[in-house]
Amino acid sequence: MPTKRDYYEVLGVERNATDEELRRAFRKLAFKYHPDHNHEDKTGEKFKEINEAYEVLSDPDKRAAFDRFGHGGAEGPFGRGFEGFDFGGFGDIFDAFFGGAAASRQAPQRGAHLRYRMTITFEEAALGCEKEITITRTEHCSMCQGTGSKPGSQPARCPNCDGSGQVRRVHQSLFGRFAHTVPCPQCQGEGRIITEPCPQCRGRGQEKRKRNIVVHIPAGVDNGAQIRLGGEGEAGRRGGPAGDIYISLSVKEHELFTRHNYDLLYELPINFVQAALGTEVEVPTLNGNAKLKIPAGSQTGQVFKLKGQGVPHLRGGGRGDQLVALFVATPDSLTKKQRQLLEELGKHLGEKNMPKPKKWQGFSQSGF
Ligand SMILES: [Zn+2]
Ligand SMILES: [Zn+2]
Repeated sequence: MPTKRDYYEVLGVERNATDEELRRAFRKLAFKYHPDHNHEDKTGEKFKEINEAYEVLSDPDKRAAFDRFGHGGAEGPFGRGFEGFDFGGFGDIFDAFFGGAAASRQAPQRGAHLRYRMTITFEEAALGCEKEITITRTEHCSMCQGTGSKPGSQPARCPNCDGSGQVRRVHQSLFGRFAHTVPCPQCQGEGRIITEPCPQCRGRGQEKRKRNIVVHIPAGVDNGAQIRLGGEGEAGRRGGPAGDIYISLSVKEHELFTRHNYDLLYELPINFVQAALGTEVEVPTLNGNAKLKIPAGSQTGQVFKLKGQGVPHLRGGGRGDQLVALFVATPDSLTKKQRQLLEELGKHLGEKNMPKPKKWQGFSQSGF
């Protein structure tokens, strides 16, 4: 292996150069050393070096590996060095800058992600649940296992590109003549053509399938949460991984509870007598009814806490609380007897029975 120059040195940039700085440096050098303009560098060695440096440094993963392992990236996370990676002709990089279709060759392609909207109840979000969804997705054809060829038959080498999957095109531009490498139109860059198509997928290698998928909704999710099902999306191409499914959750409102992070807010109406004498009431929670003691002389807006009766934390243990705000409700219809009793009581109630007047705090009926 010949001694290689440091990629940063090749492009003349600092080690902490931004993507934009890299791109600018590369662009300048690529023009300068393009073999069509630079006649001292007939072999294009310099140009290749620049292109290789940029290809590594412009890819965050490759750049990180280069920073850690240098050119000896062979021991790095890719299992092979940067040595000898495919340099697809001078056209490619210019395509990337000037909007031409970059030749994709036979690179594996990840399948598309699928999106799904799901509406669940308040309780399902708070306590978790399992839901089944039905989706239609592209999968590898079950008859040909994705090859597109009729089982038992083999694809043939494409005669147009001789199996390389790409063809060269030369065109004239402001900067001179450029050779482009484009995917072969006959085989769509595959390098092979199917001679006997699979009868089930007609050579596409993929088919649409309807699938039922069970989705686990963790306890504690809230409205707008997104759940990712890795690898459950559309099938990849040429050995690429499948896409994912993203489920966006929309949570219905509860008729009694309001949620505030992991706490539940609940408003409890009691009558004047219960508030004055104190009482014990049953309060609905997410897990059935709970008993709550209301002391004598309680007021509207007073808040009681039912510890640990809120929503479970999405990550890690523990739960929020349920906050119960008192609301002293006035009867809006009375029988004759009740009226007499209240009138009798009214004669005995005076200022000394009531709490001290306070500055008005606004309509804080619920206290929060
Ligand atoms: Zn097939
Ligand atoms: Zn071809």
